[in-house]
Order: sequence, then C-alpha cells, then structure tokens
Amino acid sequence: MTNLEVFFLGTSSATPTKNRSLPAVAIRREGQVILMDCGEGAQARFVKFGLGLNREMLILITHLHGDHVNGLLGLLQTMGMSQRLRTLTIVAPKELFGWLQTTMDVLHIGLTFDVSFVSVRSGVVFRGKDFRIRAARASHSIDSWSYVFEELPRPGVFNPKKALALGIPEGKKWSSLQRGRSVVVKGERIHPDQVLGPPRQGRSVGYSGDTRPTKTLTRFFHGVGLLIFESTYSSKDADKAVERKHSTAPEAAQLAKDAGVGRLVLTHFSARYQRPDTLLREAREIFPETLAARDGLVLDVPSVQ
Ligand SMILES: [Zn+2]
Ligand SMILES: [Zn+2]
Repeated sequence: MTNLEVFFLGTSSATPTKNRSLPAVAIRREGQVILMDCGEGAQARFVKFGLGLNREMLILITHLHGDHVNGLLGLLQTMGMSQRLRTLTIVAPKELFGWLQTTMDVLHIGLTFDVSFVSVRSGVVFRGKDFRIRAARASHSIDSWSYVFEELPRPGVFNPKKALALGIPEGKKWSSLQRGRSVVVKGERIHPDQVLGPPRQGRSVGYSGDTRPTKTLTRFFHGVGLLIFESTYSSKDADKAVERKHSTAPEAAQLAKDAGVGRLVLTHFSARYQRPDTLLREAREIFPETLAARDGLVLDVPSVQ
C-alpha cells in the first residue's frame, strides 16, 4: 500500500504570525503532489519539506483571497527555473487564470512547462489513474470551493485457496484476477469476484477552504477519512465568524460529526490566537477525533481496511 501523507505548509488565516504561515496543504502519494491553496511563501516550504518541483502535480485553489493564492506566482517561477517539464494542472475559479497570465506577461515570466487550467465546478474536476478530485461550492464572502481527494475502490483481497480449488494455476492468471480482470481456465470463464474479497474502499481527504458550515458541505464530506476544515475562530468570536463568513472550531467539529468523517484537522487560525489550544478543546468536546494543525505537521492517512 502506498503512503498517503498530508503536509501542513501554512495554517494561519489572512496574515502570517510568528509561528504560522499562510494557507497551503499538500497531499503526497506515489511521488505525486496535490497542493491545496498556495499562500505566500509556499514555494520555500515546498523546498524545505522536499516536496519536489518537478513531480506530477495538481494545484487546487479554493478561492481568490490573496492569502490563498499569493504564493502561486513564486512557486510557478521557481518551477520554471528548476527546468520543470511536466505539465502542471491548476483547478480554480476561472478568474485566477487571467490574473496569472497578466502578471506573468507584465513580469516577462516564461515557463518551461505547460499549465493546464481547469475551471472549478460542482462534481468531479480531475481524474487520475486511481484517484479523483471532487469539488463543491462553499459559503464564503466571495465565490469559494471545497475539495475531496479520493482513491478509487481497489479490488478485494485475493484468496489463493479458492483459486487453486477452481483449478487456476499460479502465475499470470492470478495477477489478472487480482487486478479485477476475468480469465479463462480450461474453457471456463472465472470472474474476479469468485476469488476476491469485497472491494476495499480507498482513502480520502477533504479540504474546506474558507467557509461557513453548510448542509451541502456536510453531504459533500460524508465519510471522508481525514477532513481538514477551517476553524478561524473560537466560539467566543462566533459573531465574527458569521460576519466574515468563516467557521468556529465547534462548528467545524459539529460538521465533522454529522458527516461521519474519520478524523478532523482544524486549520486556518486567526492571528488573534497565539496557540489554538482553546479551539482544539472546544472541538474535541463535540468530536474527540480532532487535531489542531501546525506548520510542519505531517500526517499519514491510514487505509480504511
Ligand atoms: Zn483565508
Ligand atoms: Zn477567504
């Protein structure tokens, strides 16, 4: 089973603090990187964490507030200077693309690689070999989106005893069945479900971006293994959360509970809190499987079965 790791590159909201940089979270899986939001300075942390500038890569942008996108230009430019050749895919609200193009033209930035732009919409926005990315509308002060990364279900566990009992010789035909393909043995077709256990559910990671909690998002994040949800404020500042269209820690926890997620990670903390201890405590009262992100935190996402 391949590793699925989540790197918290920046966990602050709006402005950086002494210990927290601007929003950016990276998923690394089989050498591929999926970056969610790209706050200022993300490229430096990319280098620091050895995430690599020439990997297969996908960038998902939730919305066009500066703290979530100001790092893009620097990251792209550094990728160009590192002679990146692979195409980079960016999924974002479409206005981002004009902004990037204009800025690159003004600054005479030429890239060594192609950028494939995908305008975000509800539903599946990207399909990889064995995973996909879905998006849903969030509820913020401007057009804003949430994302789910999910591995496609894998075939069930292969049962060699059953295979031998059916007279299938060990070798190529076993591998075909393990990959979910039927084979013919002595003129008889054997289907994978005759020798495989039930399909194994893939791992999944949800990312809220900036948003109020909504019913749409509760449905959208239903059952994800790891949910990264913004909790800009503590319950004491709930009025600010409503006014500025953000979530409080207890609201994030309630949504995680209602959505039946495996684990919740709080992030995007307001600079008014030096440490997110109170926010974590408030959330754990509602949803005990909660962690508070910090810059540099790396989490393994375990398999479901
Ligand atoms: Zn923000
Ligand atoms: Zn915002």
